[in-house]
Amino acid sequence: MFRSLQIGKFLGIPLFIHPSFWILPLFLVLQSLGEVPFSETLFQLSLFFGVILCVVLHEFGHALAAKWFGISTRHITLYPIGGLARLERMASDPFGELVIALAGPVVNLALAALLFPFWLTSHPVGMEFLDTWGEGFSLWGMAVLFFRLLCLGNLILLGFNLLPFFPMDGGRVLRGLIAWRWGLLKATVVSARLGAVGALVMALAGAYFGQFFLILMGVFLYLAGKMELFAVRIKAREEAFGWGTPRPSREGEFNGLSWDPDRQGWVQWVNGQAVAFHSQWPNQPE
Ligand SMILES: [Zn+2]
Repeated sequence: MFRSLQIGKFLGIPLFIHPSFWILPLFLVLQSLGEVPFSETLFQLSLFFGVILCVVLHEFGHALAAKWFGISTRHITLYPIGGLARLERMASDPFGELVIALAGPVVNLALAALLFPFWLTSHPVGMEFLDTWGEGFSLWGMAVLFFRLLCLGNLILLGFNLLPFFPMDGGRVLRGLIAWRWGLLKATVVSARLGAVGALVMALAGAYFGQFFLILMGVFLYLAGKMELFAVRIKAREEAFGWGTPRPSREGEFNGLSWDPDRQGWVQWVNGQAVAFHSQWPNQPE
């Protein structure tokens, strides 16, 4: 019951819907039911799924760019806070990261450009069209309104995703740019810090304006940024020392020595940071 639902496989990538995703359409229907005519609820619902389709295409943008760099995508999953393309690994250089991060927003830009001509039609539609639902109703007018709003939706997705808050796309672009000069670890530390500030602002704005999903987004962003930073720290230590398995289970705690079976020596830890490698027990001169 609580497992993600696979709705298909496209370009070899399974597309899943997380059970929590259904909160969104359910919320939308419950909110508008009885308040507006049923046909308008239906319109809002189709617009919602139109935007979701654009979110999926955005994720496939990331996945295709990753494929170009030889990185496969395990799955794409839809959550209430958005879509997520789970890549097999991260890009091995800043350029790859930059291209993969930008590929999603580029899809939204292309979709917005494709839908833009609907703003140029002289057909008299606008937001007020929704209020006069039923009178002067035409299928073409409804379609024009639908595609205009979908165009707007893509511009919002574009702008939102490019906010420089790691691990959002804009934050990844920022990390890629910083990493060019200062390397992955420092770039991740800096962009994760900025991302945490962004997450806090988002959550506070959500609380102030009573937007629950903005709060949820802020919390998620904060945790996701922390997790990625942790993973990069572990990876950086492994690369610096080339260890095998022994490492402290929690960051910033371990003091002392641990045996590395791969390199047949002792790794010295200070507050969870590996500081040295000794081929013999370090009390003896080497
Ligand atoms: Zn994205």
